[in-house]
Amino acid sequence: MPSPLSFLALILVLLANLLHGSDLPAAPKYPPGAYDLAVSFSPSTRSLTATARITLPPATGLELELGDLTISGMLLRRADGSEVVPVAGPRGRLQLVEEKEQRELYISYSRQVDGTGDDLINPDGIVLLGLWHPLPDREMRFSLRAKLPPGFTAITESDHFPLATEGDVTIAVFSQPRRNLHLVAAPYAVSSREVRPGLQVHTLFFPEERELAPSYLESAAGYLQRYEQQIGPFPYNHYVIVANRLPTGLGLPTFTLMGRQVLRLPFIRQTSLGHEILHSWFGNSAEVAAAGGNWCEGLTTYLADHAYRADRGEAAADRKERIVTYLSHVNDNNVIPLAAFSSADHRQPQAEAVRAIGYNRGALLFAELEARLGPEVFTRAIRHFYDRHQGTTADWSDLSQAFSAAAGQDLAAFFTERLERTDIPDLAVEEIDVRQSETGPRLSFHLRQQTEQPFTLQVPVVVTTAAGTSRFTVTTAGGDTPVSLTTDGWPLQFSVDPEYTFLRRLAPAERPPVWSQFLGAEKKLAILQSEAVKTVYQPLLDALADASWTVKIADEVKVGELQGGAVLFLGLDHPLSRSLFARPDLEATGFSLDVRRHPLNPGQPAVLITSDNREETVATAPKLRHYGRYSRLHFTGGRNDLQQIAAADTGMSFVLDRLPAWAATTALRQFHDIIAELADNRVVFVGETHTSMADHDLQLRIIEALHRLQPDLAIGLEMFPTSSQKALDAYSGGDGAMDERRFLKASGYFQVWNQDYRLYRDIITFARSKGIPLIGINLDKEVTKTVFKTGSTEALPEATKKELPLDRDLSLPGYAERLALIHDMHQTAGHGNGPLSGFIQAQALWDEAMAEHIAAYLTRHPGRRMVVLAGTQHTRKDTGIPPRLARRLQLRQATVAALPADAAGTDLTATADFVFVTAAVTLPDQAMIGVVLQSQTLDGRPALTVGGFTPASKADEAGLRKDDVVRAIDGLPVSEMDDVRIALLDARAGGRIRVDVDRPGPGGAMARLELTIELVAPSSHPR
Ligand SMILES: [Zn+2]
Repeated sequence: MPSPLSFLALILVLLANLLHGSDLPAAPKYPPGAYDLAVSFSPSTRSLTATARITLPPATGLELELGDLTISGMLLRRADGSEVVPVAGPRGRLQLVEEKEQRELYISYSRQVDGTGDDLINPDGIVLLGLWHPLPDREMRFSLRAKLPPGFTAITESDHFPLATEGDVTIAVFSQPRRNLHLVAAPYAVSSREVRPGLQVHTLFFPEERELAPSYLESAAGYLQRYEQQIGPFPYNHYVIVANRLPTGLGLPTFTLMGRQVLRLPFIRQTSLGHEILHSWFGNSAEVAAAGGNWCEGLTTYLADHAYRADRGEAAADRKERIVTYLSHVNDNNVIPLAAFSSADHRQPQAEAVRAIGYNRGALLFAELEARLGPEVFTRAIRHFYDRHQGTTADWSDLSQAFSAAAGQDLAAFFTERLERTDIPDLAVEEIDVRQSETGPRLSFHLRQQTEQPFTLQVPVVVTTAAGTSRFTVTTAGGDTPVSLTTDGWPLQFSVDPEYTFLRRLAPAERPPVWSQFLGAEKKLAILQSEAVKTVYQPLLDALADASWTVKIADEVKVGELQGGAVLFLGLDHPLSRSLFARPDLEATGFSLDVRRHPLNPGQPAVLITSDNREETVATAPKLRHYGRYSRLHFTGGRNDLQQIAAADTGMSFVLDRLPAWAATTALRQFHDIIAELADNRVVFVGETHTSMADHDLQLRIIEALHRLQPDLAIGLEMFPTSSQKALDAYSGGDGAMDERRFLKASGYFQVWNQDYRLYRDIITFARSKGIPLIGINLDKEVTKTVFKTGSTEALPEATKKELPLDRDLSLPGYAERLALIHDMHQTAGHGNGPLSGFIQAQALWDEAMAEHIAAYLTRHPGRRMVVLAGTQHTRKDTGIPPRLARRLQLRQATVAALPADAAGTDLTATADFVFVTAAVTLPDQAMIGVVLQSQTLDGRPALTVGGFTPASKADEAGLRKDDVVRAIDGLPVSEMDDVRIALLDARAGGRIRVDVDRPGPGGAMARLELTIELVAPSSHPR
């Protein structure tokens, strides 16, 4: 009976003989050691059986990882013919210590593929990417003999393709030492093309993709030619594009394995294929050294993905998108230095951040190098680097040396700064000044680095002048760099780093709101429109939500919570989203995603998502991760049919001066021409500066002229809230019984508006004379005041809240920014008026309410047109009432304004359709009695008493005394301040009025006196 040892040896040799043929070749004696693998498959049991023969050169030890392989036997044969059975240690590792003589190790094993992971063995195909053979801790030369199921074509790392066959055994030899082999086999269709003599490219596609082969072969040939020219000869004699049933994208030596689902996507052939082919040079030939960081993804991304965008003239856009993605995902809590990047797998935690560092920060390092050194030196350095390191390993210091040699300057500090530091440059521009010097106009500013430690940077500055553009490069290495640039013409505008030549923090205006900004946010609040839509959106939450997400139903969310971080609205038919974005103009069907700047928290994104139904969400959700760089997306049945990035500044941009806009005076037209044009509109907004009489004169002229053409006119007035409507109706449309004085009291004009009534008097009197309806469109003052102060509408009484417009759009482009500017001005001027969020909400509420009131009136009166009188900020056609009215009613509208003295021509086109050149008009000063009146209650009624006299007053000498009760002016009874303002409407300084007063006498008796008082000019006018 044979001993157990020799019995085992017998089995091993038998198996080896079966595959290798009877004459087993002598193992070659090269230094790396040889790894000869023989394998056969049983697709029906999803398993493989194999024998590995590893030839260890003299004086070499070895450690093998056995993973979950089922070992059936091991045998170590020494040069003297003696044999031992090695024993695997803990955790499936076999360790062989160094010995002087050459040894041969035989391992016989089997493996069952369970169908999880990327490996498979079944009657349709074989994919072996994981640990399917004992994995050595060092590189060895592999040979493979595989017995495949009939009809299968195989690919593995190999010196030649197609692989040789001997009967039913496929044979491959690969002379580049490696630690492992990958093996893929299936009933493939093979197509081939010659790139040049000695270099072939092939596709191994399934019959279903076969028609894609010619275009893939052509593209691959193009990439191979491109990189041979740029870098050096391709390291192999063939390259194979292999379709995989599983969704992989792998670049391996001599071949790439691509998921067949994506082969039809245009970007695979246009980008990914080139990227994987380039890995043949960088990654597979010049390999990443085990220690020292992965440089090859950054370099490959720069020379492939970025270069292809550059071919299309999108180099700067690509770099900016990479910076935006980096800023979205990388934060203080997950940042690692570029030097620490080794690989990015979608399954690892913080995969997006790691990827943004390894790929984007890496690519941007090379972009910065090329910008500094110029393309020629850059290419020379790349060729030099590859030439030195092909067929071996390299690390970042090798790149640093190659670039330093090509550039003729030591770049070690440049590399260290970008590889070791976790922070990135953060620039600010301050103290901007423009002066005319004797050598030309001079733009000066300070470039400040806001990082604790400054970087050494070369910062491009582009100045736009009246004569063209001038380019400069500013070198900064300290915290504060004074810059002085002499230009050809007067500088109008300048941009710092408009082409994004290096990774840096972006100014808020440069950063478009994009989807990755939400995905990378540390705190995310997802708001479901209602419990009922949960099933529609749940697949999205399942695909994306993690610990950084809070999911709530809209009814449970307080406005204050919105300001905490990034928000995502799932379904938009809820007052909460409608109070911020109204009903956005998204497609009604499919799946829409719209990223905006968070109106209440400008540094954060607000994302609006609507999905038609659960199926649309299911089809789209798993793909969304790949669309991070976009602001607006639409999918139908999971197919992307819209992708946009929102507009943002290019570079850190500063406007210095605006050339005035112009119009030829020959283009000036007569008043009545414009009226004909305005008459085509259902609503005409005529903006005003409230205190400008000229503006009110213009309003009246327009109303008069339009009314002559179209008597069915109404006038909408910002000056009156809807609560004044009864008084407005009685005055303009009534029987004429209400006089002006009672109208002013009943409408509460002076309570609400507090402007000289004479500014509006002619307009209102005209309307009354023609019976033109006057419509109050404003909100009650208390509402806006509360929102200003408390920062939200939550503090309003329920009844008031119900009357507010549901749809409020805070996200009109430029709206929040403009309001923030105004808010800042108020704050610095010391009229602090509550939080910015309240200010923005109150303003929007105001504009929306006026739009709603106008729309309501026009809906109730379909035959009417309207002229709307409101402040010029409200009548702006870009962000004021007009776009909000357009959202509610389809109608023609126009905005008219008098040309304000401080108008910048460029703004006028955004704010108005027509401008009028008007002459200044001043109202005569309103006269005063020159007394301080106090409101009191006497005998249960309101009364006014004299509290004192102004220095200019003539009331004192006319006999008026302190504590006199003023009862009437010119015969009109007065008891409140409004009465006095009404009584003095038409009074002039120097004129005389009769004042009836009651003077308290001894014992409480009142004596009635009649006094005649000369009026004086307001005391603010020294006269
Ligand atoms: Zn790659």
